[in-house]
Amino acid sequence: MAKIKMTGAGLRVPNDITVPFITGDGIGREIMPVCRKVVDAAVKQAYNGNRSIDWLEVMAGEEAFKQSGAYLPDETVAAFKEYLVGLKGPLMTPAGRGVRSLSIMLRQALDLYACQRPFRYFFGVTSPVKYPDRINLCVFRESTEDVYAGIEWPYGSEKGTKFGEFLQKELNEEKVRFPETSAYGVKPVSKEGTERIIRCAIDYALSHNRRSVTLVHNGNIMKYTEGAFVNWAYDVAEREYGTYLSSGRLRLTGITCDAFFQNAILHPEEYGVIVTSNLNGDYISDVFAAQVGGVGMSPGGNINYETGHAIFEATHGVASDIVGRNVANPSSLILAASMMLEYLGWKEAADLIVTAIERTLRQGITTADIADSYKHSSCVGTREFGEAVVKMMSI
Ligand code: ATP
Repeated sequence: MAKIKMTGAGLRVPNDITVPFITGDGIGREIMPVCRKVVDAAVKQAYNGNRSIDWLEVMAGEEAFKQSGAYLPDETVAAFKEYLVGLKGPLMTPAGRGVRSLSIMLRQALDLYACQRPFRYFFGVTSPVKYPDRINLCVFRESTEDVYAGIEWPYGSEKGTKFGEFLQKELNEEKVRFPETSAYGVKPVSKEGTERIIRCAIDYALSHNRRSVTLVHNGNIMKYTEGAFVNWAYDVAEREYGTYLSSGRLRLTGITCDAFFQNAILHPEEYGVIVTSNLNGDYISDVFAAQVGGVGMSPGGNINYETGHAIFEATHGVASDIVGRNVANPSSLILAASMMLEYLGWKEAADLIVTAIERTLRQGITTADIADSYKHSSCVGTREFGEAVVKMMSI
């Protein structure tokens, strides 16, 4: 097995590759084996056995803690660094003060700044809106900056108090209404951070035949952070993609977050590629996920396009309420694996998976979370859904 390498011309992907994966906690143990079977079948069929994946299991979460005393062992981070591209099931968030989400720790360790979330509707999935098929778009969320950068201090802490005093005494900032009892968080937004996520969104639009890229922001209120995000975005687009803009091949527009949320329900067909900051992106992803079948249907990728590092994942949590019942929907993880194959340039295998899921759902074969109870579709278990998807590949 050879390793994937990042070169000046992009990723170099051998025919037989090692892919590290984290099974994950909770339903991860049910959906990951199903997902791997689907991916192996797709790769085998798409390339007649001339390409293959050697899955390398690496530990994180509960199981890792039991075995090594660490929720995210150094060897796991090292494996993703070494092999560049990997897959991840859902991970529990360790209890206790100061312990952060393992997924965020992994993203930070590899500087996976682009959180890529495609949303589309699959016929056969139950949806709370009338025209879910109008949704077919991709959200790019900057995921290293903003209020989610993790810079915050509790009320009464030494650093929190120091920061409060600095605001008042050094910066003469008098807007804090109750300085004695305030906790503080910091919202860093940088030019470099903005430019690199804008490039991802525009490159994606150009390579996926999309004309419109929409900046979603709160720049009217937060002028120096989100307003700067917008200005830097237009600048980099003008500088590096000017010919696409002037020829009309590419349209870059901005919209404030509140107006956008209304449109996300009323006119989602107006959007092709959306690019936004960290917190906005978190909410925006859920508003689209809810319309196309919920978290069980929504995949995600966390990518650094400069280094090539990428981890694709199910976007839902560990779903402890349904663990061990063979009812979890494996689609989020399977579609994330399909994104991974596309990222590797194995588009034929990626497309096979998406088409097979389309056919499976169209035939009314669904897991319980997306079943339409009025139409009495045949609701199947996690394993059976995976088997149906594999079967659909050879039809
Ligand atoms: P965490 O604590 O990990 O964030 P959570 O329970 O808060 O977990 P999710 O795990 O995303 O959040 O679950 C939210 C709801 O969606 C739960 O009712 C869960 O059962 C359901 N759910 C999540 N993922 C799936 C899935 N793949 N298939 C079916 N239902 C799911």
